[in-house]
Amino acid sequence: MSSNLRSWIICGVLLLVLACAVFFLPPFLYLGAAFFAFSIGNAELRKGSGQTAYMPRPAYEPPSNLNRPSTQSAANAHVELPERTMPENIPADLKCPSCGASIKPTDKVCAFCGSTLQPLIELPEPAKLGALEIGKTVRVTHPHKGEQSYKVRGRLLYTELWQASSGPTVPWTPTGNYYAGFALEPNAYLLNWQDRFYILEERRALTDMDINRDFLPYAKQFAQSNQTARVEFSYAGGRWLMVDIGRFAIEFEDGEGLHLHKGAIGRFIHATSSNPSTSSGQAALVIDDFQSGGSGGQDTLWRGFQVKETDIIF
Ligand SMILES: [Zn+2]
Repeated sequence: MSSNLRSWIICGVLLLVLACAVFFLPPFLYLGAAFFAFSIGNAELRKGSGQTAYMPRPAYEPPSNLNRPSTQSAANAHVELPERTMPENIPADLKCPSCGASIKPTDKVCAFCGSTLQPLIELPEPAKLGALEIGKTVRVTHPHKGEQSYKVRGRLLYTELWQASSGPTVPWTPTGNYYAGFALEPNAYLLNWQDRFYILEERRALTDMDINRDFLPYAKQFAQSNQTARVEFSYAGGRWLMVDIGRFAIEFEDGEGLHLHKGAIGRFIHATSSNPSTSSGQAALVIDDFQSGGSGGQDTLWRGFQVKETDIIF
Protein backbone atom coordinates (compact mmCIF):
# COMPACT_ATOMS: atom_id res chain seq x y z
CA MET A 1 0.00 0.00 0.00
CA SER A 2 1.42 3.38 -0.92
CA SER A 3 2.21 5.68 1.99
CA ASN A 4 0.04 8.36 0.38
CA LEU A 5 -3.08 6.20 0.39
CA ARG A 6 -2.32 5.04 3.95
CA SER A 7 -2.12 8.67 5.09
CA TRP A 8 -5.53 9.43 3.56
CA ILE A 9 -7.11 6.45 5.30
CA ILE A 10 -5.61 7.46 8.67
CA CYS A 11 -6.81 10.99 8.11
CA GLY A 12 -10.35 9.79 7.27
CA VAL A 13 -10.51 7.58 10.36
CA LEU A 14 -9.32 10.42 12.60
CA LEU A 15 -11.96 12.77 11.17
CA LEU A 16 -14.69 10.18 11.73
CA VAL A 17 -13.55 9.64 15.36
CA LEU A 18 -13.54 13.41 15.96
CA ALA A 19 -17.01 13.81 14.41
CA CYS A 20 -18.43 11.06 16.69
CA ALA A 21 -16.64 12.45 19.72
CA VAL A 22 -18.29 15.85 19.28
CA PHE A 23 -21.67 14.21 20.04
CA PHE A 24 -20.75 11.79 22.82
CA LEU A 25 -17.87 13.18 24.86
CA PRO A 26 -17.81 16.03 27.39
CA PRO A 27 -15.87 19.09 26.11
CA PHE A 28 -12.61 18.54 28.07
CA LEU A 29 -12.35 14.91 26.91
CA TYR A 30 -13.13 16.01 23.36
CA LEU A 31 -10.25 18.51 23.54
CA GLY A 32 -7.91 15.75 24.76
CA ALA A 33 -9.02 13.46 21.95
CA ALA A 34 -8.49 16.24 19.44
CA PHE A 35 -4.89 16.74 20.64
CA PHE A 36 -4.30 13.01 20.48
CA ALA A 37 -5.61 12.88 16.90
CA PHE A 38 -3.51 15.90 15.96
CA SER A 39 -0.32 14.29 17.31
CA ILE A 40 -0.95 11.12 15.27
CA GLY A 41 -1.66 13.17 12.15
CA ASN A 42 1.42 15.29 12.70
CA ALA A 43 3.69 12.27 13.19
CA GLU A 44 2.23 10.72 10.05
CA LEU A 45 2.90 13.89 8.11
CA ARG A 46 6.56 13.95 9.20
CA LYS A 47 7.38 10.39 8.22
CA GLY A 48 4.87 9.83 5.45
CA SER A 49 3.63 11.60 2.37
CA GLY A 50 4.32 15.01 3.90
CA GLN A 51 8.06 14.31 3.80
CA THR A 52 8.73 16.62 0.87
CA ALA A 53 7.45 19.58 2.85
CA TYR A 54 10.26 19.07 5.38
CA MET A 55 13.00 18.21 2.92
CA PRO A 56 15.93 20.63 3.19
CA ARG A 57 16.87 22.66 0.12
CA PRO A 58 19.28 20.76 -2.10
CA ALA A 59 22.87 21.71 -1.40
CA TYR A 60 23.73 22.36 -5.04
CA GLU A 61 21.20 25.14 -5.30
CA PRO A 62 23.06 28.46 -5.05
CA PRO A 63 22.23 30.24 -1.80
CA SER A 64 20.30 33.41 -2.60
CA ASN A 65 22.58 35.64 -0.53
CA LEU A 66 25.39 35.04 -3.01
CA ASN A 67 23.29 36.44 -5.82
CA ARG A 68 25.75 39.21 -6.64
CA PRO A 69 25.77 41.39 -9.75
CA SER A 70 27.40 38.97 -12.11
CA THR A 71 25.32 35.96 -11.15
CA GLN A 72 22.11 37.79 -11.87
CA SER A 73 20.61 38.12 -15.27
CA ALA A 74 21.21 41.64 -16.50
CA ALA A 75 17.63 41.73 -17.70
CA ASN A 76 16.23 40.85 -14.27
CA ALA A 77 17.93 43.58 -12.28
CA HIS A 78 15.57 46.02 -10.69
CA VAL A 79 17.12 49.48 -10.87
CA GLU A 80 15.68 52.54 -9.17
CA LEU A 81 17.04 55.86 -10.37
CA PRO A 82 16.04 59.25 -9.01
CA GLU A 83 14.07 61.54 -11.32
CA ARG A 84 16.34 64.22 -12.68
CA THR A 85 14.38 67.23 -13.85
CA MET A 86 15.39 68.17 -17.35
CA PRO A 87 14.22 71.38 -19.04
CA GLU A 88 11.39 70.77 -21.52
CA ASN A 89 13.29 72.06 -24.55
CA ILE A 90 16.94 72.91 -24.48
CA PRO A 91 17.70 75.66 -27.01
CA ALA A 92 20.24 74.47 -29.58
CA ASP A 93 21.95 77.86 -29.83
CA LEU A 94 22.76 78.87 -26.25
CA LYS A 95 24.91 81.98 -26.00
CA CYS A 96 27.07 83.35 -23.21
CA PRO A 97 25.35 86.45 -21.84
CA SER A 98 28.75 88.18 -21.45
CA CYS A 99 30.51 87.54 -24.76
CA GLY A 100 27.91 85.89 -26.99
CA ALA A 101 29.97 82.76 -27.64
CA SER A 102 28.20 79.43 -28.08
CA ILE A 103 27.87 77.51 -24.84
CA LYS A 104 26.50 74.09 -23.84
CA PRO A 105 23.54 73.65 -21.46
CA THR A 106 25.84 71.99 -18.89
CA ASP A 107 28.56 74.70 -18.96
CA LYS A 108 29.30 76.34 -15.64
CA VAL A 109 32.00 78.59 -17.06
CA CYS A 110 32.18 80.17 -20.49
CA ALA A 111 35.10 78.56 -22.34
CA PHE A 112 35.75 81.80 -24.21
CA CYS A 113 35.50 84.66 -21.72
CA GLY A 114 35.67 82.73 -18.47
CA SER A 115 32.54 84.26 -16.97
CA THR A 116 30.45 82.17 -14.56
CA LEU A 117 27.26 80.70 -16.06
CA GLN A 118 24.07 79.33 -14.58
CA PRO A 119 23.87 75.91 -16.31
CA LEU A 120 20.50 74.92 -17.77
CA ILE A 121 21.09 71.33 -16.73
CA GLU A 122 22.53 70.74 -13.26
CA LEU A 123 24.62 67.60 -13.42
CA PRO A 124 26.45 65.89 -10.58
CA GLU A 125 30.24 66.22 -10.73
CA PRO A 126 32.17 63.09 -11.62
CA ALA A 127 34.69 61.93 -9.00
CA LYS A 128 37.62 62.56 -11.37
CA LEU A 129 38.30 64.41 -14.62
CA GLY A 130 35.40 66.79 -14.00
CA ALA A 131 37.25 69.65 -15.68
CA LEU A 132 37.94 67.69 -18.88
CA GLU A 133 35.44 69.13 -21.32
CA ILE A 134 34.45 68.56 -24.92
CA GLY A 135 36.84 70.29 -27.32
CA LYS A 136 39.78 70.15 -24.91
CA THR A 137 43.05 68.42 -25.68
CA VAL A 138 44.22 65.69 -23.32
CA ARG A 139 47.66 64.09 -23.28
CA VAL A 140 47.93 60.49 -22.10
CA THR A 141 51.17 58.62 -21.49
CA HIS A 142 50.51 55.37 -23.32
CA PRO A 143 52.41 52.27 -22.07
CA HIS A 144 53.31 51.34 -25.69
CA LYS A 145 53.29 54.49 -27.75
CA GLY A 146 54.47 57.05 -25.22
CA GLU A 147 52.73 60.39 -24.90
CA GLN A 148 49.65 60.68 -27.09
CA SER A 149 47.56 63.74 -27.76
CA TYR A 150 43.79 63.41 -28.07
CA LYS A 151 40.87 65.76 -28.57
CA VAL A 152 37.71 65.20 -26.47
CA ARG A 153 34.68 64.65 -28.72
CA GLY A 154 32.08 63.34 -26.31
CA ARG A 155 31.48 62.71 -22.64
CA LEU A 156 29.48 60.13 -20.69
CA LEU A 157 28.50 60.48 -17.05
CA TYR A 158 28.11 57.14 -15.25
CA THR A 159 26.11 56.56 -12.07
CA GLU A 160 27.54 53.81 -9.90
CA LEU A 161 24.84 51.40 -8.65
CA TRP A 162 24.73 49.07 -5.68
CA GLN A 163 22.36 46.84 -3.69
CA ALA A 164 21.76 47.45 0.02
CA SER A 165 21.64 43.67 0.37
CA SER A 166 21.99 41.00 -2.26
CA GLY A 167 19.06 39.22 -3.85
CA PRO A 168 17.07 39.44 -7.05
CA THR A 169 14.27 41.53 -5.51
CA VAL A 170 16.52 44.11 -3.84
CA PRO A 171 16.63 47.22 -6.05
CA TRP A 172 19.86 48.63 -7.40
CA THR A 173 20.21 52.28 -6.46
CA PRO A 174 22.85 54.99 -6.98
CA THR A 175 25.81 54.95 -4.58
CA GLY A 176 26.21 58.70 -5.07
CA ASN A 177 29.45 58.20 -7.02
CA TYR A 178 29.67 59.43 -10.60
CA TYR A 179 32.39 58.63 -13.09
CA ALA A 180 33.22 60.04 -16.50
CA GLY A 181 34.14 58.48 -19.84
CA PHE A 182 35.42 60.41 -22.87
CA ALA A 183 35.21 59.68 -26.59
CA LEU A 184 38.54 60.81 -28.05
CA GLU A 185 40.00 61.70 -31.44
CA PRO A 186 42.06 59.81 -32.67
CA ASN A 187 39.69 57.00 -31.87
CA ALA A 188 39.97 55.93 -28.22
CA TYR A 189 37.91 55.97 -25.05
CA LEU A 190 39.20 57.34 -21.75
CA LEU A 191 37.40 55.86 -18.74
CA ASN A 192 37.67 56.51 -15.02
CA TRP A 193 36.17 54.09 -12.50
CA GLN A 194 36.89 54.64 -8.81
CA ASP A 195 40.69 55.10 -8.69
CA ARG A 196 41.37 53.37 -12.01
CA PHE A 197 41.93 55.01 -15.41
CA TYR A 198 41.77 53.24 -18.76
CA ILE A 199 42.75 54.27 -22.24
CA LEU A 200 40.72 51.88 -24.40
CA GLU A 201 41.48 51.51 -28.08
CA GLU A 202 39.80 48.43 -29.55
CA ARG A 203 36.10 47.86 -29.30
CA ARG A 204 34.14 44.89 -30.51
CA ALA A 205 30.59 43.65 -30.06
CA LEU A 206 29.91 40.66 -27.83
CA THR A 207 26.88 38.36 -27.76
CA ASP A 208 25.28 37.06 -24.56
CA MET A 209 26.72 33.68 -25.57
CA ASP A 210 30.26 35.14 -25.71
CA ILE A 211 29.84 36.68 -22.26
CA ASN A 212 28.31 33.54 -20.73
CA ARG A 213 31.12 31.37 -22.12
CA ASP A 214 34.21 33.56 -21.73
CA PHE A 215 33.59 35.75 -18.68
CA LEU A 216 30.54 34.83 -16.60
CA PRO A 217 31.96 31.75 -14.81
CA TYR A 218 34.91 33.86 -13.57
CA ALA A 219 32.74 36.84 -12.71
CA LYS A 220 30.52 34.51 -10.64
CA GLN A 221 33.52 33.06 -8.85
CA PHE A 222 34.76 36.59 -8.14
CA ALA A 223 31.31 37.70 -6.93
CA GLN A 224 30.95 34.72 -4.60
CA SER A 225 34.22 35.65 -2.89
CA ASN A 226 32.80 39.14 -2.41
CA GLN A 227 35.45 40.31 -4.90
CA THR A 228 38.31 39.19 -2.66
CA ALA A 229 39.53 36.07 -4.47
CA ARG A 230 42.31 36.12 -7.04
CA VAL A 231 40.38 34.96 -10.10
CA GLU A 232 42.38 34.46 -13.30
CA PHE A 233 41.13 33.42 -16.69
CA SER A 234 42.38 32.94 -20.23
CA TYR A 235 41.05 35.05 -23.05
CA ALA A 236 42.31 35.85 -26.55
CA GLY A 237 45.70 34.27 -25.93
CA GLY A 238 46.36 36.08 -22.66
CA ARG A 239 45.90 35.54 -18.94
CA TRP A 240 43.66 38.03 -17.15
CA LEU A 241 42.88 38.90 -13.57
CA MET A 242 39.42 39.97 -12.33
CA VAL A 243 39.65 43.46 -10.88
CA ASP A 244 36.11 44.70 -10.45
CA ILE A 245 32.52 43.85 -11.32
CA GLY A 246 29.49 46.04 -10.84
CA ARG A 247 26.58 47.88 -12.34
CA PHE A 248 26.04 51.34 -13.76
CA ALA A 249 23.54 53.61 -15.45
CA ILE A 250 24.41 56.31 -17.98
CA GLU A 251 23.26 59.54 -16.37
CA PHE A 252 24.11 61.91 -19.21
CA GLU A 253 25.66 62.02 -22.66
CA ASP A 254 27.16 65.02 -24.31
CA GLY A 255 28.95 65.56 -27.63
CA GLU A 256 29.83 63.09 -30.38
CA GLY A 257 31.40 59.70 -30.99
CA LEU A 258 29.78 58.00 -27.99
CA HIS A 259 29.04 54.28 -27.92
CA LEU A 260 26.48 54.54 -25.09
CA HIS A 261 23.46 56.71 -24.47
CA LYS A 262 21.63 58.28 -21.59
CA GLY A 263 19.49 55.76 -19.71
CA ALA A 264 21.54 52.68 -20.63
CA ILE A 265 21.84 50.32 -17.66
CA GLY A 266 24.46 47.63 -17.69
CA ARG A 267 26.94 45.65 -15.67
CA PHE A 268 30.66 45.61 -16.20
CA ILE A 269 33.71 43.44 -15.74
CA HIS A 270 37.15 45.05 -15.45
CA ALA A 271 40.20 42.82 -15.82
CA THR A 272 43.90 43.45 -16.23
CA SER A 273 46.73 41.41 -17.63
CA SER A 274 47.70 38.99 -14.84
CA ASN A 275 51.45 39.39 -15.46
CA PRO A 276 52.09 43.15 -15.45
CA SER A 277 55.87 42.63 -15.33
CA THR A 278 55.97 41.91 -19.08
CA SER A 279 56.73 44.64 -21.59
CA SER A 280 53.10 44.69 -22.72
CA GLY A 281 52.28 47.14 -19.93
CA GLN A 282 49.15 46.89 -17.84
CA ALA A 283 46.79 45.65 -20.56
CA ALA A 284 43.12 45.87 -19.62
CA LEU A 285 39.72 44.47 -20.63
CA VAL A 286 36.45 46.29 -20.03
CA ILE A 287 33.33 44.22 -20.68
CA ASP A 288 29.94 45.94 -20.75
CA ASP A 289 26.84 43.73 -20.59
CA PHE A 290 23.46 45.41 -21.13
CA GLN A 291 19.88 44.48 -20.55
CA SER A 292 18.55 42.93 -23.71
CA GLY A 293 16.05 44.91 -25.77
CA GLY A 294 15.32 48.59 -25.46
CA SER A 295 17.06 50.75 -22.88
CA GLY A 296 20.50 49.14 -22.99
CA GLY A 297 23.45 49.34 -25.32
CA GLN A 298 25.39 46.85 -27.39
CA ASP A 299 27.32 44.32 -25.30
CA THR A 300 30.91 45.34 -25.79
CA LEU A 301 34.48 44.32 -25.17
CA TRP A 302 37.03 47.13 -24.95
CA ARG A 303 40.74 46.40 -24.97
CA GLY A 304 43.37 48.87 -23.95
CA PHE A 305 45.57 49.77 -21.03
CA GLN A 306 45.27 50.87 -17.47
CA VAL A 307 47.12 54.14 -16.91
CA LYS A 308 47.89 56.21 -13.83
CA GLU A 309 46.00 59.37 -13.01
CA THR A 310 49.27 61.29 -13.37
CA ASP A 311 49.58 59.94 -16.94
CA ILE A 312 46.57 62.07 -17.93
CA ILE A 313 47.30 65.76 -18.44
CA PHE A 314 44.93 68.46 -19.73
ZN1 LIG B 1 31.56 84.19 -22.54
